Amino acid sequence: MKKEDFMPQSFNNLNFNKLLDNLPAGVVVHNLDSSIIYANKMALNILGLSWNQMIGKEVTSKNWDFINETGKPLDIEEYPINLITKSQKPLKDLIIGIKINGLNEPKWVLVNGYIDKQNNTDKVIITFTDVTSEYSLPFKDILDKAHDAVIITEASDIEEPYGPKIVFVNDVFTKISGYSKDEAIGKTPRILQGELTNRDTLDRIKQALKNKKAIREVIYNYSKNQEGYWLDVSIFPLSIHRDERITHFVAIQRDISEFKKIEQKYKTDAQQDPLTKLLNRRGFDILSKELANELKTHNEGYSIIVMDIDHFKLINDNYSHSIGDIVLKELSILLKQFVRTRDLAVRLGGEEFALFLPYCDKNDAYEIAERLRKTIEYLCIKANNQNINITISMGIASDPRANNIKKTLDEADKALYKAKNSGRNKAVIFYE
Ligand code: GH3
Ligand code: MG
Ligand code: MG
Repeated sequence: MKKEDFMPQSFNNLNFNKLLDNLPAGVVVHNLDSSIIYANKMALNILGLSWNQMIGKEVTSKNWDFINETGKPLDIEEYPINLITKSQKPLKDLIIGIKINGLNEPKWVLVNGYIDKQNNTDKVIITFTDVTSEYSLPFKDILDKAHDAVIITEASDIEEPYGPKIVFVNDVFTKISGYSKDEAIGKTPRILQGELTNRDTLDRIKQALKNKKAIREVIYNYSKNQEGYWLDVSIFPLSIHRDERITHFVAIQRDISEFKKIEQKYKTDAQQDPLTKLLNRRGFDILSKELANELKTHNEGYSIIVMDIDHFKLINDNYSHSIGDIVLKELSILLKQFVRTRDLAVRLGGEEFALFLPYCDKNDAYEIAERLRKTIEYLCIKANNQNINITISMGIASDPRANNIKKTLDEADKALYKAKNSGRNKAVIFYE
């Protein structure tokens, strides 16, 4: 037998009153005018009312009040029975609070209902279960005990210019951000953004919120006193009606600044020469490529100066390898002081160095190289009470369209070779 063919009436002697009174859910039957004509035992039990206090009463009776999850009294048209009669559709899983006369704490119930069509005497059947114990858990206190920051915003006003309004923050948020609850509530999460907050990340978040989708991102935020910190943030939509009408967004933020610091250190270690603290070859490859891409979009170029210490082997031989190291370090300090902020100073290997000079043509690079060459020539490096003088040879090449770093580096090398072969302590420009 199919389920549709099953007729409960076929149980001749089934006692429906007893069945209803044994259900673990409240069942209330209304006439269409909203008056109550039946309530089962569980309904009376949950509400703490007697049969006489309920039966025959209008739903607007003064014996009880309905409230929503924010504690606001429901308008009459928001009453479950009126939602059903107006829409003529079943009601699914609505959470409401019922304040019974004389009781301070509301009963929270999960309500379902439908119209039972019966030849001109339609009835509205409302069923409900008691969810008070779930609803009376101190969720705000629980959130304050969490280790992640929690921010709840309204779902409206995602668009410019104000952004969504913060309606709740937990204790961890106040600790990480430095904003008190009073200072944060009513503002928008934009107070946390700043110069280094990635615009693409913000755009992705905004798009997700617009589409009412959950999203997880890593983002740089700023505290009240403008200190930056890294967050792993999960944002998801929320409905206080427990349906598809999104009313709020929840952001759960984990401070990952410490992880980021470690990550940064690994990155630095991988790109830095440990002896001189200049960029190593790998760091040069990565950063020069980034700079060249940027220069290319501006139709600009760069020059490279490669340099090699003259007869460095003699320094190691005449003094010692460790004094040779001191010379390399002192030369590196000078190079770092010598270049502009956007230039790259690199130890290519051994006693070979390079400068990558953005927005710099051949002639400017030659002038810089000559000034550097002379400075080094007159530099007196002190190591273990010894005064050491060095000279360097340099090769210069330019890439006015920022097209090919490898080729430019090769050309600078060729010019360096010429400088070495024509007497050393020289700067030579590459010509085809
Ligand atoms: P030139 O370049 O003028 O032709 O002569 P050079 O003597 O400088 O040339 P070469 O390339 O033959 O020698 C470079 C020396 O640099 C050999 C190597 O022992 C030394 N060197 C390379 N790396 C280091 C280092 O990290 N520390 C020290 N102290 N010496 C190094
Ligand atoms: Mg050398
Ligand atoms: Mg060499």
